[in-house]
Parts: sequence; C-alpha cells; structure tokens
Amino acid sequence: MQVASTICEVRETVAAARAAGRRIGCVPTMGALHAGHMSLMDLARRHSDFVVATIFVNPTQFAPTEDLAKYPRPLENDLAACRQAGVDLVFTPEVPALYPDGYETFVTVERISTVLEGAHRPDHFRGVATIVLKLFNIVQADVACFGQKDYQQQALIRRMVRDLDLPVEIVVGPTVREPDGLAMSSRNVYLSDEERTAALSLYRCLQRAHSLIHSGQHDLCAVRAAMLEELAAFELVRPDYATICDADDLEELTAPRPQMVALVAARVGATRLIDNLLIPSP
Ligand code: AMP
Repeated sequence: MQVASTICEVRETVAAARAAGRRIGCVPTMGALHAGHMSLMDLARRHSDFVVATIFVNPTQFAPTEDLAKYPRPLENDLAACRQAGVDLVFTPEVPALYPDGYETFVTVERISTVLEGAHRPDHFRGVATIVLKLFNIVQADVACFGQKDYQQQALIRRMVRDLDLPVEIVVGPTVREPDGLAMSSRNVYLSDEERTAALSLYRCLQRAHSLIHSGQHDLCAVRAAMLEELAAFELVRPDYATICDADDLEELTAPRPQMVALVAARVGATRLIDNLLIPSP
C-alpha cells in the first residue's frame, strides 16, 4: 500500500495504474475509520481494481463552532486498517496542499444544500461539494463510494456529478450499525455511557416511522410527531429535525410517495448525530 501526501504523487500513481489497465475506485473519508468506512473500501474493491482511500479532515465543511480541532485523527490506526482492507493508495494531504494561501473557489449545489442538514449547518455542503470535486479532480476515479449514513451528502454529490457532467460513477453503500442499531460514526467516541444509551433513540425514531407508515398511517405529520416523541423519551437528546422526505430530492412530504426516507438529526449531550432509513412504498 502506498501513502501519498502530495497531489503530484497521487496523480502519478493513479496514472500508472490506469496505464496498466486498472479501473480506479475512490473512497473519500475524514479518517477515524470504523466498520462503516471499511464496508466502503470493500465496495470500492468490488467496483474497481485500484482502490484509493482519502483521509482528510476538511476544514471548509466545519463551522467555527463545530468540532474541527477535536475531530479524532488516529492516522496510524487508519493506515493499518486501509492496509488490511487491501487499499492500494491512501491520500493523506495537509490542509495547505488543498487550500493554499489565497484559495477562493467554492462549489454550491443550490437547493439541496439549504434543507435539513443545510438549514442547521449553513456552509457545510459548500465545503463538502468543494472538497469532493477537488478529490475527484485529483484522483480522477472511475467510481467513488459513499455511505447512505450521510444521506443528504450522497444525494448532493449525485446531483453535482449529474449537473457538472463529472465522469465518475457514484456507488452508495448501506449504513453499517452497531449490534444494537446505533449507526457507526467517528463521532460516537465522544459519547458517555449515558449518552450512548440515549443515542439509540435516533434509530428507534426511524424504525417507528417505518412501522407506522407500513401499518397504514398516511398522515406524515402524525408520523413526525411520533418520531419526536421517541426522541423526547431521553432528556439528553435535543432534536434538530425528524422528518420524512422524498428519497430523491429530499422535499419534505405530507403524504406517502413510492420512495421515501426518514431522516433525523439530534444533539446527544454535546455531540450532534444524524441517521436515516429508507422507507419503500407500503
Ligand atoms: P466521514 O469520514 O464521516 O466523512 O465518512 C466517509 C464516508 O463513510 C462517507 O461516505 C460516509 O457516508 C461513510 N460512512 C460513515 N459512517 C458510515 C456507516 N455507519 N455506514 C456506512 N458508511 C458510513
């Protein structure tokens, strides 16, 4: 496994792999890798034959009040996990390599950046779209893998790829959960035991939405109220939103559609968590 910290090294290595006839796969991450990330490395391996993982805690997607400084960065463990997963190349740039002095170009995917997460984290998706486009331009992968865990992020990236005619196939892998249902997240390490228990209410609220809709509840306002009730069972949980949207454009729904997604975001103590569940037509 090769580890590269410069754009030049990545370009040269990928060009050599492509010249040897390999299809290039890419998995962008912020590190602190867990089984959710590793499932994407496996997915990339199945869709390509040269896997590039990127590890970069992207400052432009964090607001000044967020956890950029304390975000976990266990680089040695991450590299060992990549090696074990059979990753071919890991790109671990420093911030100035991607955002040199005088940097001033950003990408905005307009409407989809403003709802749900975007309403609570105003510049977040501008940072996400910008770094993902930069990584696509650097790696020039044929296929890139993202997790359903960050539902709005993958929807936004698919839209950007379509709108800007980017020559990359996007493959989305299912959310990997702990045995009790908690979605794996690099931020779960911030949770105390009590918060960890309270955090389970996020998945429960999604399951409640699913079972209500499938047992014939077509009033999605009532479903939303039931989702919030599930979260309210724990004082430590302060919801930002809990809602049902169209699975494609994330428009908030009042009546069922063929493809829906239930989404939730909440602070559990000081940690902000998100989760989602696809709800096929009942
Ligand atoms: P992050 O390091 O949080 O930026 O995530 C990197 C990639 O891993 C994104 O595409 C995430 O959606 C994906 N990911 C994070 N957590 C999970 C999970 N529990 N299951 C599947 N994919 C995940």
